[in-house]
Amino acid sequence: MRPMVLDPLFAPVSTLPGVGPKIAKLLSEFIGSRPESDATVADLLFHIPHSVIDRRHRPGIAYSENGDVVTLDVTIDRHHPGPRGGKVPYRITAFDDTGSISFVFFHPRRDWLEKQFPPGERRIVSGKVEWFNERPQMVHPDYVLAPDEAETMPAIEPIYPMTAGLSPKTLQKALFAALDRLPELPEWQNEPYLRQTGWPSFNDALTTVHRPQERQDVQPESEYIQRLAYDEVLASQLALALVRAQMRQQGGIARKPSGQLQQSVINALPFSLTKGQADAIKDINDDLAEPVRMLRLLQGDVGSGKTVVALAAVAQMVEAGAQACVMAPTEILARQHFASMKPVCDAAGLRIALLTGKDTAKNRRATQEQLDDGTIDLVVGTHALFQGSVTFKDLGLVVVDEQHRFGVHQRLALSSKGKGVDVLVMTATPIPRTLLLSTFGDMDVSKLTEKPAGRKPITTVSASLNRLEEVVGRIRAALADGQKAYWVCPLVEESEKIDLAAVEERHRVLEHALNMRVSLVHGRMTADEKDAAMQDFKTGVTRLLVATTVIEVGVDVPDATIIVIEHAERFGLAQLHQLRGRVGRGDKASTCLLLYKGPLGETAGARLNIMRQTNDGFLIAEEDLKLRGGGEILGTRQSGTPGFRIARAEDHADLMEVARDDSRLILATDPNLESARGKALRCLLYLFGRDEAIRLLRAG
Ligand code: ADP
Ligand code: MG
Repeated sequence: MRPMVLDPLFAPVSTLPGVGPKIAKLLSEFIGSRPESDATVADLLFHIPHSVIDRRHRPGIAYSENGDVVTLDVTIDRHHPGPRGGKVPYRITAFDDTGSISFVFFHPRRDWLEKQFPPGERRIVSGKVEWFNERPQMVHPDYVLAPDEAETMPAIEPIYPMTAGLSPKTLQKALFAALDRLPELPEWQNEPYLRQTGWPSFNDALTTVHRPQERQDVQPESEYIQRLAYDEVLASQLALALVRAQMRQQGGIARKPSGQLQQSVINALPFSLTKGQADAIKDINDDLAEPVRMLRLLQGDVGSGKTVVALAAVAQMVEAGAQACVMAPTEILARQHFASMKPVCDAAGLRIALLTGKDTAKNRRATQEQLDDGTIDLVVGTHALFQGSVTFKDLGLVVVDEQHRFGVHQRLALSSKGKGVDVLVMTATPIPRTLLLSTFGDMDVSKLTEKPAGRKPITTVSASLNRLEEVVGRIRAALADGQKAYWVCPLVEESEKIDLAAVEERHRVLEHALNMRVSLVHGRMTADEKDAAMQDFKTGVTRLLVATTVIEVGVDVPDATIIVIEHAERFGLAQLHQLRGRVGRGDKASTCLLLYKGPLGETAGARLNIMRQTNDGFLIAEEDLKLRGGGEILGTRQSGTPGFRIARAEDHADLMEVARDDSRLILATDPNLESARGKALRCLLYLFGRDEAIRLLRAG
């Protein structure tokens, strides 16, 4: 149960003054943390400003720069109403010692203006100055105050990410009311750590961030933001540590076979292992030998050879007498895994089976029987299948490929399939260290950093879409020369329909221009249609495949040597890198052609440059984080770190590391969060929506 002290913070925002049903709905969509329920007071409080306006900036009229927000101490001169109903705005002139200025109003309420700006009197006016025809003006000032009211204007005014329909005043009012609801909360941070960092209490931090006294109060490095960011990352790390503890607790089994079967698998390979592969296999063998469950993430770029590592793990488990399964995100990938694993399994004496949604009921039953009686050692299939009713005689190892969609929930759900199942998750997405911690902080990590020997590099070039014809000419020549190519179509944001139209149109145009059959794959096709098209391309019936980004994950056609990515400027770095990984998988040199539509924005340009400069997925991931962190929308938090509202991977990486250690230490001394600090930490988990982990405590 949620501690009662938190109740005021979990009240819906509609209980705040000035927040009617319409605003409440708007806020829920904009800042709500749970799609199924209204935004809460806590959600609102965690909506923090990205910058401030300093109303203390008083340069005088003549010294106000174009675009600056300034506060002016002026004497009102005259009103120039303009003709009624006309297009000319209402102007009011005023002056100070340095010069004169116009205040400009569109659709004026005249009586209000006459009251606010009495000619001959002094007024404090604050707003943004613009220079127009070498004269300063201020359109719709933010504040107009008589000198004796001047104090009601905040010196430093927080600026929030906004959404259409929400006015700053409404937000501000709701926020101040929310701050008044802040209950006295127990301190969940370690006192010595707070003393060492000099951080304020949670309530102080939150209050100051919403009522900043200085410009730097809302900067990522301020003690206030640091404190809140640390609270947030600690909540997330603690939740992950609880998941980890829970999974490890469910008695793993020490698997210490001779290693003979694993050796047979390695001997059956037509190549020798890379150092990374050998190291990862050793990590895994060590994990398996421990009496706790393995929770390991294997990170390796596309083509780095993760499959072999998975097979070695499987062999070790099977020799120890248990079964294994490999889960892939799609049926195509499941088949591909099966096809590449089968020869090695056959040679090493591992009994492997494929389980797909397309099996006949009879086949399916037969496979299920063999899983139940232990005839099958290794079964390959899709995630979806395993979430269903498949059972095992004795499942010991689950390998999950391409984890993108494999969250903490899914990790926990696996527990039900077998006792103390060991888990190996493989990802081809190189994840920057901080994000790795924030999403997989509960797992141990092995990395494959080098590519297998003999790989030819991929040359990456970029060209403007204006040169499309030239590009088509080059593709024609390459295809005539016996090569195979992918053509990836533009990603049109938010519209699957337009995507589809674009890819179909490109397919038609290319078929016509090249005068040959071209395969087409997109997300609206059935699995069968996709399979058939992929098969044609793989076997060489067609030599060009036009596709949407559905080919992004894991598709393997080793003799494809060219990939054209159209509208490359619309793709993120990680995605470009994934797509590029479709080529360079065989023994021939490959090319990636990034077709862009100019002019390129700064960030898009930087992305294409990085792509041209490096093939190193880990480096690309770090650059990606930097670029996205800054974001096209500079100065806002909207491009923040996924899953976090305050902490940002690029600013608070060090905090993430501390929080990981801190949370492991906490659980080592107080595994059920029962001490005074433990109880306070439960509050923290609820506050930041990580309370799922608390249910584990009660279950355990
Ligand atoms: P990924 O990490 O993308 O899953 P794969 O496991 O599919 O990569 O391996 C890509 C290709 O590299 C496969 O054809 C595989 O047989 C080959 N391969 C894997 N390891 C090595 C190695 N050590 N030396 C040479 N080729 C290798
Ligand atoms: Mg793979």
